[in-house]
Amino acid sequence: MQNDLPIWALRDELREAWAQQPSTVLVAPTGSGKTTQICQMLLAERPAWTGRIVVLQPRRVAARSVARRVAEEMGATLGEKVGYQVRFEDVTELGTRICFVTEGILLRWLHDNPDLNGVDAVLFDEFHERNLLSDIALALCKRLQRERRPGLMLMVMSATLEAAPVAAYLGGAPILESRGREFPVDLVYETWEDGSDLERPVWERAAARCARILRDTPEGDILVFMPGAYEIGQTLDALRAALRGQAAPILLLALHGELPPREQDRVFAPSELRRIIVSTNVAETSLTIPGIRAVVDSGQARVARFDAGRGIGTLALEEISKASADQRAGRAGRLGPGVCYRLWPEKTHERRPARNTPEIQRVELSDVALQLAAHGVTDLEGFDFLDRPDPGRIHAAIELLRALGALTGEPRNASITEVGRAMLRLPAHPRYARMMLEAARYGCVREAALFAAIMSGRELLARVGRQETITLRNRARVIEKSGENQSDFFALRRAFEFARAQDFEPRACYTHGINPHTAREVGLTFAQLERMAESAGLLGMAPELEVPPGDAIRRCHLAGFVDQLATRQAGATTCHVADGHEGELADESVAARGSSHRLYVVSEIREITTRSGEKLTLLNTASAVEVAWVRALVPPPDGLSESIEHLYDRLNKRVVAARVLRYRDLMLGGEPHFALDPQAAARALAGEFVDKLEKLPVWNNTARPWLAQRRELASKISVEMLEAILATAWLGATTYKEILERPILPALQAALGEGT
Ligand code: ADP
Ligand code: MG
Repeated sequence: MQNDLPIWALRDELREAWAQQPSTVLVAPTGSGKTTQICQMLLAERPAWTGRIVVLQPRRVAARSVARRVAEEMGATLGEKVGYQVRFEDVTELGTRICFVTEGILLRWLHDNPDLNGVDAVLFDEFHERNLLSDIALALCKRLQRERRPGLMLMVMSATLEAAPVAAYLGGAPILESRGREFPVDLVYETWEDGSDLERPVWERAAARCARILRDTPEGDILVFMPGAYEIGQTLDALRAALRGQAAPILLLALHGELPPREQDRVFAPSELRRIIVSTNVAETSLTIPGIRAVVDSGQARVARFDAGRGIGTLALEEISKASADQRAGRAGRLGPGVCYRLWPEKTHERRPARNTPEIQRVELSDVALQLAAHGVTDLEGFDFLDRPDPGRIHAAIELLRALGALTGEPRNASITEVGRAMLRLPAHPRYARMMLEAARYGCVREAALFAAIMSGRELLARVGRQETITLRNRARVIEKSGENQSDFFALRRAFEFARAQDFEPRACYTHGINPHTAREVGLTFAQLERMAESAGLLGMAPELEVPPGDAIRRCHLAGFVDQLATRQAGATTCHVADGHEGELADESVAARGSSHRLYVVSEIREITTRSGEKLTLLNTASAVEVAWVRALVPPPDGLSESIEHLYDRLNKRVVAARVLRYRDLMLGGEPHFALDPQAAARALAGEFVDKLEKLPVWNNTARPWLAQRRELASKISVEMLEAILATAWLGATTYKEILERPILPALQAALGEGT
């Protein structure tokens, strides 16, 4: 233990809080000892405990490195008394007492061991990040503490948390605060005047700034914040170029989650050389890197967002909040007065949000809904979240899961299905999990994984204008194959394979209308999904169903996107989609070419504004599918429904009926039905004529004058009421001719309770 750290000053208060009740909120500056000391203190304080103290970490890098540090301080071997568990890596044993875990692991424990037997305390570290999974984990732990484990200790810790709402959420938990030892940090913003050019890539500006700091100051390490591994790589390249010819050697280091653990630890090793460390926001609050005197902040981070167009979550590049920027700046004030260079102008600083928006308010919620359903939460809309997501978004998530066959029942009482449970074993978006599960039945998991990877990437086919005929012709030659236009998958796969064969070389790709960067990312996602399928045991399975080659992948596509069916109008590219909307199959869609197929499933429904300012719904990445496949996929009421529908045929001026097949409100097909139902026929007539009554002499001559004399009564009649009255008056009629002769007034008087 390091008893000299600021957190030790709070020891008596902590003891008292722990003795009083089971939940506590702790706010103390970065570096004061929350992560490394509290767990040790607690272990010493509670000799009667025999279970684990679990410390939740948002990032794998932090979980590993902090576990190692605590083991060192306790003189223990990592993996024995102190350990960590992250995805694909479990460094704990049965007797482990302090265990650092990432959010996904804690949720899995909660699922497999709902009472968390063997766990005495859960510490939610870095809670200000408000990651989706930590919000969910806290909600589930709170419920567990309330209902079955009153002694389970919960602690929420952070450097920058707004503590009061969390304390209230935890039933009035005490808030403990510590002041840190921090030196003042000067803030220097970019200005247009000093010749810096905000159009230059942020890594070049960061490298230039570092070179100046090295030149102008005698000592101290520099910490550079970049959003992700890619930008870190670019920054290191730019630094190497900028520092060429520099007299004193400089140690350049990267820090991000994709590095092997040994590389990650290098930032903590002592060094004779002056250092520049280029890091993601893992160094913002999770890890305290020694020796920093100056911070260079790009002002950006990669944040999980929901992309409605593709119906999936993505990692988007975003501007960080003011609170994050202040945390980053604070990293320069640990040793003495420091400087933070913000690579954005001061006048745009005010536009930044004050704090991070909780992830639960931003992302698509089907994943959350599925996880919670697996934890036995049936009423999601009523679930006790710290910040409740918008009910409309919860509703949409449940609807999607019902369409996928993962949930069943009403939104306020939804339960998980076998399919839903199986989907949870694949940590991918529910759409892709569902696709891969279906693929296992046909023995085409690899194909489905590739398709999912292609769909999750942004535009594998580059935007090519219609006038760029050479590129278009090149692309068509590579990706199109006659007789294989039932699905865009076949073309997209050829595009990907072409790019891979060219080693993603930009020129070769662009001249063929293929985006090399997307293609490279598709390759990585594909490998990841394959690994996932492998560890879920999907790859070795023998196919359960034999279907013609070429059908299987389309059936998988359908399984993941069944809520996005489109019916195509004969000889056109216009389609009907759900909710009464119309869309156009995109030019790039090979499936749309010269085919006479009627029913498609599409992955992308995107609204665009054309050059002439019109709004247009574009449909892309399509597969031709069959009604029978839809029928086999999800049973009613969440799947297909068939009913007799009556409607007024304006041409023949009579009611006709059809047996209509619908997926939700989208009509997939119909056959004439000759026996009319009198009630339904009367309703169809009423619906047609309710706003055209002035065409009917019997209305004009009797009912209207009668109503005209009873203004007050007339004003109370709604359209629905009038429709019901007409339907009563017209019961037994099926043609226009027949209603011309039917009196309306008696029905009107009866409905309004007036005698003649
Ligand atoms: P907090 O969680 O409050 O930010 P920590 O418990 O992570 O603080 O760290 C407390 C102190 O321990 C820091 O000031 C840092 O100097 C030191 N420390 C933490 N981890 C390491 C490490 N891996 N190597 C060296 N020092 C470390
Ligand atoms: Mg910490």
